[in-house]
Amino acid sequence: MFDRLSDKLGKVFKKLKGHGKLTEANIQEALREVRLALLEADVHYKVAKTFIDRIRERALGQEVMTSLTPGQQVVKIVHDELAALLGGEAPRLELGGKTPVALMLVGLQGSGKTTTAAKLALYLKKQGRQPLLAPVDTQRPAAIEQLHRLGAEIGVDVYRSQPQQNPVALASEAMAAAVAKGHDVLLLDTAGRLHVDAPLMAELQAIKADVGPAEILLVADAMTGQDAVAVAQNFHEALDLTGVILTKVEGDARGGAALSMRTVVNKPIKFLGVGEKLDALEVFHPDRLASRILG
Ligand code: GDP
Repeated sequence: MFDRLSDKLGKVFKKLKGHGKLTEANIQEALREVRLALLEADVHYKVAKTFIDRIRERALGQEVMTSLTPGQQVVKIVHDELAALLGGEAPRLELGGKTPVALMLVGLQGSGKTTTAAKLALYLKKQGRQPLLAPVDTQRPAAIEQLHRLGAEIGVDVYRSQPQQNPVALASEAMAAAVAKGHDVLLLDTAGRLHVDAPLMAELQAIKADVGPAEILLVADAMTGQDAVAVAQNFHEALDLTGVILTKVEGDARGGAALSMRTVVNKPIKFLGVGEKLDALEVFHPDRLASRILG
């Protein structure tokens, strides 16, 4: 991810550092190039504009213009602002409160929700937790079977639901089963659709009200770029998300969804899916990613 952006920004910075002293025109030109690089990376145009405005304000300040290393100062400002754009502090998964704690995964069909549920279960298991996976999809038997297969692969229990059950009752029963069997985390893999639709949102809202999850995490496909951000906005309006997991990040050369998500939806990206394997899940660190982008 971000290869091209990284490349472009590298060139802009090289030029900036090459000037002994910076004029306002040098900075304006560099910012124009940074803005173009962001737009080419599929960053939402409003996000790119705000970002550039913030950097311009700081970069044209006295401190930078009169410093001995103005180029480096500007690069540092871009780094800080990029980390802030990506979400500032590294967000944590909320696992406090009453046990078992419920985590609800939501998202469109094909986003990688079921795979991510299993990845998260494995991640939690490695941390000494005892997760229970529950497929809360009553319409797609294949998705249910997929979760059972993945659960067996990682040695995590999967709640065996009856087909054609009401999803809300199902989530509730899965919670009761988690309590009865001493699990400390319940991971709900909810139903997906090809598009955002009202019945799905109503179903998810009912599950949320019934189970009271500590986290509602949207699983979104990074390769769909700004569509992923729009989907996140829709889910957030209906469900008040607590965070986002971006999947297929390793195949996303541009990175626009990652760069726009926080500003547009104002919810943290908590994890990145970086492959099909079940250990291909990374905790999201905005600062490290900013450093990686800036090389
Ligand atoms: P769901 O319909 O949202 O439950 O999606 P699935 O979990 O079935 O995933 C859809 C496809 O995306 C599957 O082929 C997964 O292996 C794949 N997938 C999920 N996450 C990732 C990821 O982070 N990287 C890659 N390359 N593929 C992924």
